[in-house]
Amino acid sequence: MRVLLSQNDVRQGVERMAKFVEDRFGDSPITIVGVMTGSVMLLADLIRLLKMPMRVGVVQASSYRGETTRSELVVNSDLTPDVAGREVLLLDDIFDTGHTLMAIVEHLRRKGARSICTAVLLRKAERKEAPIEPDFAAFDIPNEFVIGYGLDYRDEHRNLPFIGVLEENDLGSGE
Ligand code: 5GP
Ligand code: MG
Repeated sequence: MRVLLSQNDVRQGVERMAKFVEDRFGDSPITIVGVMTGSVMLLADLIRLLKMPMRVGVVQASSYRGETTRSELVVNSDLTPDVAGREVLLLDDIFDTGHTLMAIVEHLRRKGARSICTAVLLRKAERKEAPIEPDFAAFDIPNEFVIGYGLDYRDEHRNLPFIGVLEENDLGSGE
């Protein structure tokens, strides 16, 4: 495994995201929705840097199970606060093809969100497929499989405080 973004890099990226959110919303109340499970660290770190009145919740979307097989994308908002009429800030760990963000944005729109602003920590620019761009991405990264700071490989490594790249021989059987 190789370090792509150090703990310090990540912290600076989150600070830039906080600045973007402050510039965008000022003191207006917002509803922050983090995409489970990858955005938990980002969510926890970002909200500590923000001072506007906020409600916080999560949404779950299942795509990438295991490695790269794409299953149907299912959005579960049982744990999401009511977004009807609200200004929503949607947070995710990484923007890859964009299908996840696209599906959740559509879902929140159907639930009546007044506006939806999207912010991600990482963006794999070359991989975009869906007709959507995040409003903010802290880092553009090459097309490599990353882990840490919330991101997993087969449900592990989310606890790493930095972003690492799994190399060919780390991606074995998983055991
Ligand atoms: P998208 O729908 O944009 O293709 O994929 C977004 C989701 O796929 C992310 O929320 C994340 O869960 C997962 N994903 C995409 N790229 C990576 C990666 O490099 N590492 C990990 N751990 N997850 C990824
Ligand atoms: Mg995810």
